Amino acid sequence: MSKRIVCKFGGSSVADANQFKKIKAIIESDSNRKIIVVSAPGKRTSKETKLTDLLYSTYDLASKGLDFSTPWKLICDRYLEICADLNIAPKIKDDLNALEQKMISSPETLTTDFLVSRGEYLCAKIMAEYLNATFVDTFPIICFDDKYRVTTKSYSDIASALKDESKVYVLPGFYGSNLHGEVKTFSRGGSDITGAILANAIEAEKYENWTDVSGMLMADPRIVERPMPIEYVSYREIRELAYSGASVLHDESIAPCRAKNIPINIRNTNKPEDPGTIIGPTPKTVKHPITGVAGRKGFSMIYIEKTMMNKEIGFGRRVLAVLENEGLSYELCPSAIDSMSVVVDSKALYAVQETVLEDITQQMRPDRIKVFPGISLIATVGHGMTDKIGVAAKLFTALAENSINVRIIDQGSSQINIIIGVEESDTEKAINAIYKAFIS
Ligand code: ASP
Repeated sequence: MSKRIVCKFGGSSVADANQFKKIKAIIESDSNRKIIVVSAPGKRTSKETKLTDLLYSTYDLASKGLDFSTPWKLICDRYLEICADLNIAPKIKDDLNALEQKMISSPETLTTDFLVSRGEYLCAKIMAEYLNATFVDTFPIICFDDKYRVTTKSYSDIASALKDESKVYVLPGFYGSNLHGEVKTFSRGGSDITGAILANAIEAEKYENWTDVSGMLMADPRIVERPMPIEYVSYREIRELAYSGASVLHDESIAPCRAKNIPINIRNTNKPEDPGTIIGPTPKTVKHPITGVAGRKGFSMIYIEKTMMNKEIGFGRRVLAVLENEGLSYELCPSAIDSMSVVVDSKALYAVQETVLEDITQQMRPDRIKVFPGISLIATVGHGMTDKIGVAAKLFTALAENSINVRIIDQGSSQINIIIGVEESDTEKAINAIYKAFIS
């Protein structure tokens, strides 16, 4: 396996020339840091708009033939300012001029994905120039099939494009190409996925994801006061935590690294001395039974009750088939002897609720069917909970002591997570209660 490290720098890490300088120092401090992936410049102050969002606004206006000069000027000024502050020739001026001409003369030839992808493209060009590194565009080497999956061939194309182990390469994150030869972006925050795909393709030693926080915390700091940092979290734990709202990394960036056991290290560009969080393959011996607790609002529970349900073969499958027909995926499906509940995303349910309830009623003839909206799912996650007696007792005692009514209980058979459903208004209280019960 190669010793090379893939480093992805997020929007805040490339927000201005000063951040570029920090990146240079980081790259120079470890000669294995050879593959650099960048996002588009992010906000410098909370009032500013991210360049990607300015590009979306520009596209909206240009595609309608409207005056796009306000957001466009902010974009051009930002890139040119970075070049000037870094003392490098503003070669990207030609790209900016060509884009502007295109938006004026033939806006119909532009696609949203193409225009917004220029945020990363231009940033990578400046970074390559500044680091005196080789720029490699991701457009021809990351290709999506018709189901929006990255093709197998992309991995070998990436490996051969980045094969010279002595070189430092800079690549734009966030996009690739589709089968029609057009730019196609990942979902928002997708530069994380680009970095993970590159790490997989070159079998990197490590995938460093540089951002503006020193790794993950055991709970959301907006909810719990000064939560402890997470030094190490396994791929499985992070999936559970990320799903439940702990966001630090795009959740689709885990799988490519997990497939090759490549550790992901979340690092802080502004505090490179901090070790950050490692996301890796093996569960570690832990100090606390829980690795983290996270919660997410916005769920609804479809509750179905029918006497003798347990004897009716295929009941569950047919209920889920109704959801499948409406394109609705479910999150949890706790069941009892004569009842089952299906927890779904409230927004997704809203659009098809009437049909779903009608179809279940017609096909299953339940004694009762009701939707309970406003549910929050809270995941308590940790390999340390496995085979540990008293974990559930501690968790539910803490909730009871805080007068929190538990609507749903689900413990994965792996025992690394306990998911509870509570009223949305109890979310913050429940997360605090659980955190305090385990971390004292
Ligand atoms: N610039 C893109 C976004 O804002 C992708 C990224 O930053 O990862 O979503």
